[in-house]
Amino acid sequence: MAKTIQAIRGMNDCLPSQTGIWQFVESNIRRVVANYGYQEIRTPIVESTELFKRSIGEVTDIVEKEMYTFDDRNGDSLSLRPEGTACVVRAGNEHGLLYNQQQRLWYMGPMFRHERPQKGRYRQFHQFGVEVYGLNGPDVDIEMILIGARLWQAFGIADKVELQINSLGSADARAAYKELLVAFLQEHYNKLDEDSQRRLLSNPLRVLDSKNPAVQAIVKDAPKLIDHLDEASQVHFSLLCERLDNLGIKYTVNPSLVRGLDYYNRTVFEWVTDLLGAQGTICAGGRYDGLVEQLGGKTTPAVGFAMGLERLVLLVESLDDSLCAHSPVDVYIMAIGDEAESQAMQIAEKIRSELPSLKVQQHFGGGNFKKQMKKAIASDAPIALIIEDGELKNANVSVKYLKQDKPQAKLSLEALSALADLL
Ligand code: ATP
Ligand code: MG
Repeated sequence: MAKTIQAIRGMNDCLPSQTGIWQFVESNIRRVVANYGYQEIRTPIVESTELFKRSIGEVTDIVEKEMYTFDDRNGDSLSLRPEGTACVVRAGNEHGLLYNQQQRLWYMGPMFRHERPQKGRYRQFHQFGVEVYGLNGPDVDIEMILIGARLWQAFGIADKVELQINSLGSADARAAYKELLVAFLQEHYNKLDEDSQRRLLSNPLRVLDSKNPAVQAIVKDAPKLIDHLDEASQVHFSLLCERLDNLGIKYTVNPSLVRGLDYYNRTVFEWVTDLLGAQGTICAGGRYDGLVEQLGGKTTPAVGFAMGLERLVLLVESLDDSLCAHSPVDVYIMAIGDEAESQAMQIAEKIRSELPSLKVQQHFGGGNFKKQMKKAIASDAPIALIIEDGELKNANVSVKYLKQDKPQAKLSLEALSALADLL
């Protein structure tokens, strides 16, 4: 026998038993973003490597070690997109969507990072993200948070996620703060791990983000960026907090929240859960007012977030799968006898035309009543429609309930749409 071929490690199939919950998540996302008046944007999965180097930052986990990068046949360096924001900014600049305009956009699709696969961390994963361009105020930052909160409500997980916020200030304030931070970390140099020692020189803010408990213990006493903000960022942040309070949105200020990508400034936030182990961040975002310019466009304020759909699905699944429990079939059509078999397809088509939202599956492959009934039960349909020669003479079919203890009913071929009322 030939050897079977396996999927790439960390890249998952989404099997029919799983697609129900994914569709539930995706359709709620589409409904909620429409509810806020956002428009979808779709960009290619492959971009030039330069795009991610310039936007995400050379000294970040993503660019240093997680990207799927290859030379194409022309010798150009291309990368599978590790995230969506850089791609949307690239497209926005290229098509003149950003400068002097306001855009409220969203995207959803696969992203790729070469990480160690584990629960909630994969090499192909999916993000839903929102991006707003051309708006400065903390009001849009708040809208980013409200969209998340509304989704948690829809998914029944509102009390399982917590909002953390922070401000990274302006580039100048950050630069001044970096000096304070570096001085502090240098005092503890020998107690830092190798990664943090390296980052101390290249990207000191990222030391704050370390997952190593020993490093976290040191960082706890480091000077806080939030105490060294420029005046405008400070006003922005207090307004943000005040309005979140007014809206009744609970949050914690986490001074160590810096995010893994370089392009953020001012507001940053994460929605985290403690139900998924180490992979607890399900949504992360913030402001990136300098990114459009950094990628060659004219200065345009921007804010957005990205949500990891695998982690969201894991969380929804672990709580209440009745939210998205559904049978793939509503009506299973059986045909017993020659005449019944020759008419079954017409009848099935008539039902589909009259009841377009009904899920109608027709039995194929013949067999006696018992065999067909077995398949009907296996289909998980609540109703079997039995077409059978004797009844057909009177233009009738029978309805058998497969999940309820109700007597069999008769239905006239003239009134097939009454099926909808029987479900
Ligand atoms: P983490 O700290 O978990 O590595 P990150 O800061 O690298 O996350 P972002 O780049 O902010 O993540 O991506 C936004 C969201 O996308 C994350 O909060 C997470 O939910 C999801 N995500 C990121 N990387 C992965 C992955 N490899 N597998 C599954 N989901 C992911
Ligand atoms: Mg990461």
